[in-house]
Amino acid sequence: MLERLAKERRARLAAERLLEQKKRELQAANQQLAFHARSLSDQIVEQRQGLAQALSEAASLKGQNTRVLSDLEHATSLARIAQTRLWDALETVRDGFAVFDGDLRLVAANRAWLSFFEGEIALSQGVTYDAVLKIAAQHGLIELDGRDPLDWHHEMTARIRRAQIEPCVLRLPGGRHINMIDRWGRDGDLVCLTQDITATIQREADLQEARDKAEAANRAKSAFLANMSHEIRTPMNGVVGMSDLLCETEMTEDQRLYAETIRSSGEALLTIINDVLDYSRIEAERMQLYPEPFDLERCLHEVMLLLQPAAREKGLKLLVDFDLFLPTRFIADPGRMRQVLTNLIGNAVKFTARGHVLARVVGIELADDSYELHVTVEDTGIGIAPEHVEHIFGQFNQVESASNRKFEGTGLGLAITRQLIELMGGTVWVDSVLGEGSCFGFRLPLTPAEPREEIDKPSTPIRLKCAMVVDDLLINRVILERQLETYGLEVTLCRSAAEALHVIEGGAQFDLVLTDHEMPGMSGLDLAQRLREGGMRVPILLLTSDPEAAQGAAGDGGDLSGVMQKPVLRSELFRTLQDLSCIPPEPAAAPPPPERPPEPGRQMRVLAAEDNRTNQLVFRKMVKEFDIALDFAGNGREAVALWQGWQPDLIFMDISMPEMDGREATRAIRAAEAGTGAHVPIVALTAHAMAGDAESILAAGVDHYLTKPLKKSAIAERIAAHCPPEARPPLPAGMEA
Ligand code: ADP
Repeated sequence: MLERLAKERRARLAAERLLEQKKRELQAANQQLAFHARSLSDQIVEQRQGLAQALSEAASLKGQNTRVLSDLEHATSLARIAQTRLWDALETVRDGFAVFDGDLRLVAANRAWLSFFEGEIALSQGVTYDAVLKIAAQHGLIELDGRDPLDWHHEMTARIRRAQIEPCVLRLPGGRHINMIDRWGRDGDLVCLTQDITATIQREADLQEARDKAEAANRAKSAFLANMSHEIRTPMNGVVGMSDLLCETEMTEDQRLYAETIRSSGEALLTIINDVLDYSRIEAERMQLYPEPFDLERCLHEVMLLLQPAAREKGLKLLVDFDLFLPTRFIADPGRMRQVLTNLIGNAVKFTARGHVLARVVGIELADDSYELHVTVEDTGIGIAPEHVEHIFGQFNQVESASNRKFEGTGLGLAITRQLIELMGGTVWVDSVLGEGSCFGFRLPLTPAEPREEIDKPSTPIRLKCAMVVDDLLINRVILERQLETYGLEVTLCRSAAEALHVIEGGAQFDLVLTDHEMPGMSGLDLAQRLREGGMRVPILLLTSDPEAAQGAAGDGGDLSGVMQKPVLRSELFRTLQDLSCIPPEPAAAPPPPERPPEPGRQMRVLAAEDNRTNQLVFRKMVKEFDIALDFAGNGREAVALWQGWQPDLIFMDISMPEMDGREATRAIRAAEAGTGAHVPIVALTAHAMAGDAESILAAGVDHYLTKPLKKSAIAERIAAHCPPEARPPLPAGMEA
């Protein structure tokens, strides 16, 4: 029993252990199941969230899609509006517009372009460019001016083959003009534009016609001016010439004043007419230059001498400083050069009340043997304010100021000067300080004339060794010193007569004294007298701006060896030095001049061809003291007849004459002389206004020409120069040229 009991107990214990184990296994399985259930539930939550997100993303994509669609619709509508606007615009412009594709087929064209073919043919899309050209040519839409339509077509198709197509103008029937502008587009399209330029062409034609009319009017104006000048000049020459002669007669003081006023007013009027004419000629581009060899230094001195009386009246000193190392002879138009110098120096004298006017010429030699000359005219006058400087070179322009108002003038001088210098290839400038003075200058390239005048190489040696120069003006002393030094003289400068006397008293010895006349303190004349009284025997030269007055004051001139006109011309100074070198130290008393024996031979025959009675009278009066036989011809034909019948030794030939003018008459005479060996000297008489015709006058065969108003001295010079050996000397004693 016990054993059974124990057995049972063991069985129960085993069963309890098994139960315990199964319980544990069940608990483990439960736990695992719970874990799985939890992870499954987590997965479900996760997937739900993913689904929700996917759903929301799908919803947002759907929204985007709708927006894109609406944008696309908007863009399409904008593009449609732009295209419509573009075509509306293209339809609105009056120019024709067409586009051809890469195969040159018409893609689109506006109405203006299509209207070109209207009435002839209806062009449709796809028509080729080539066909369009053919239609235009064959249907007479283009004026071909007799050209073959095929040629034209060929030319036009060749035209558009170029990358850059040149515009071309087509003339249409009815006088219309079309400008064709074609261009290749980037995508191979050909864009064509046609502009109706009929109005522009018409305007151009109108403008051309207006310009032609204006030019014709301008030519007529110039011709009128030239004619008028001749008409005014002829009587004016009579007035000036006659008053000139009148001034030579016995008159009361009042009468002399009146006659001289008539003469100077006449001369002033002639100057004004000349200025106006020159300017109108320059304006009409008809101003011609006639370059020839001339002596610039001499020309400058002549201008100075001309202005000397006006300068002297105011006590102005006129000075010339011509670069010693420059040649003096150049090639340029001497008349025009003289005009420029007269304008500049004349102004300087006019606008200067006291002090000096200095003309200076310097130059540099250029590589090609020509020179660049710098000519300056410096004065110590009223000056010009900076704001007026540019203005004064304009025509009819004068400085408007109280200090300037009292001066007369046309205001044309500087305008002409500038134009003339520019015509010669130079430039003009001015530097000025108001109240102190002005310096006008020009730069000009000039060729020296060959052969050069070698005045520096003395033919007669200058034996004088040392000179004393007395002048109160520094510039003058310096210029003279330089000139004398180039001739090998040693120079001592003195500022006054007192200083000169002091130097001489100090024992200094000189071979020559050059003294200015008008100096503060003691004059040059008084100095010469004092030097002679002191026993000085060497030559004394007086330099003066008024030789006549000085000679008058000097009486018999015993103290002086010579009187020279200031400014002194280098070549004259040189000649005087040569002459003084030849004077024997103690001159023997000069033998009395022999009585003039009665002249044998015939009278010189002078023919004057001049239609104007007053001018004839002036001429007759001018030569009345001459021993000549004078006859007049009233026109060219009479002149030729008289030349044949009377055989004059010299002919003065007016150029403007009725029936046959001076040129024609000269040509006729030269033609008749041809082959005979004869050559009668002919001197043309011209008005200044005709100076531009000098070439044609000389070409006619004249030997010289003189400009009016005539000067007695110029006529005398020509008569003396052409007097044949068998004739009696024509000029009275004391007037020999
Ligand atoms: P015009 O002398 O006949 O008046 P210009 O053309 O020669 O005419 O000169 C124009 C102006 O220039 C003159 O009126 C004067 O005002 C000014 N001018 C010319 N030269 C000088 C000078 N050397 N000094 C001062 N002013 C001058």
